Amino acid sequence: MQSVLDRAAAGGRITPQEALELYRNAPLHALGQAADAARRRRYADTAHIATYIIERNINYTNVCVTACKFCAFYAPPKSDKGWTRDLDDILRRCAETVELGGTQIMFQGGHHPDFGVEYYEKHFAAIKKDFPQLVIHSLGASEVEHMARISGVSVEEAIRRIHAAGLDSFAGAGAELLPERPRKAIAPLKESGERWLEIMETAHNLGVESTSTMLMGTGETNAERIEHLRMIRDVQDRTGGFRAFIPYTYQPENNHLKGQTQATVFEYLRMIAIARLFLDNVAHIQGSWLTTGKEAGQLSLHYGADDLGSVMLEENVVSSAGAKHRSNLAELIHLIRTAGRVPAQRATTYEHLVVHDDPANDPVNDHVVSHLSSTALDGGTAHPELKLIDAS
Ligand code: SF4
Repeated sequence: MQSVLDRAAAGGRITPQEALELYRNAPLHALGQAADAARRRRYADTAHIATYIIERNINYTNVCVTACKFCAFYAPPKSDKGWTRDLDDILRRCAETVELGGTQIMFQGGHHPDFGVEYYEKHFAAIKKDFPQLVIHSLGASEVEHMARISGVSVEEAIRRIHAAGLDSFAGAGAELLPERPRKAIAPLKESGERWLEIMETAHNLGVESTSTMLMGTGETNAERIEHLRMIRDVQDRTGGFRAFIPYTYQPENNHLKGQTQATVFEYLRMIAIARLFLDNVAHIQGSWLTTGKEAGQLSLHYGADDLGSVMLEENVVSSAGAKHRSNLAELIHLIRTAGRVPAQRATTYEHLVVHDDPANDPVNDHVVSHLSSTALDGGTAHPELKLIDAS
């Protein structure tokens, strides 16, 4: 086992069988040490830095025909709990994001039965017209499959059109679990994992890069978790289009799976480490404080992660399922610094925008808080009465 860890730490490739053996049986600290060595080797001159981003997740509708069993966010069509934000509302949220120093928009919502390619073209073009400085890092293969079907066009055409309208990159949501058994168990109406990857590969080949994700803790086996990584690595060998891998944990409230299972912090840290070692062709591994908690997020920086996600000014999806962790800009910087790293605000493409190497110069802005606007806030409501803080 140590020789496999040493090989992976030195940048050598490990097999899925070796990854599974390490994931199951390697001592936690040895696993973390090897993953951290792999991270330091990859980043060399900048290994002392850990990054974060300021973004807003604009949830444009919760109406969805796909009814994933783990989802606490969606409302079926015609439900009185369904809502859709209008364009003015979306643009107002973009304006606030810019005012608060955000650089990225994640446009995330349900598979609305009326929203084809035209809907996304119209909204992305409007956002880019008013806010060309915002990067639209949004959607994923599932939304593309859905909008192409609604508009009666190929996924290639759908990707080309939304890219031309303003989409910069895909966020890679909807990967959930890619292997067939766990995917069917939690998202039976979603496209298959192979199809999800095929669409992402098409996007990469059209010049639209993405991140990749994994939803842990809905009852999948360890072997299925490693198989998920293998499927991503194989596509990445061909395209190089996945900028990052972002595992996050299932939240068990208000959905059809309820408290079925949930990944522990121990399993999460092992996954961060194994992802760094196994995904030798993916540059960035992101630790998620939003679903696992701030301390686990901080620890992930010592298990191979080089990025601690975002100050997410708005989030409703995993929050609806019970993710209760909140943070703000000052705290995120503090978490990174006290983990022994120099914090840096990054762009969507991971360039460092500001390196906070002197605590005396840390940004001070009480308004840059996660969940500034969220249905998950106490007293918060769905559109149109969302509580918004006046950024001025
Ligand atoms: S996860 Fe996405 S596709 Fe699935 S039900 Fe929720 S909103 Fe719909």
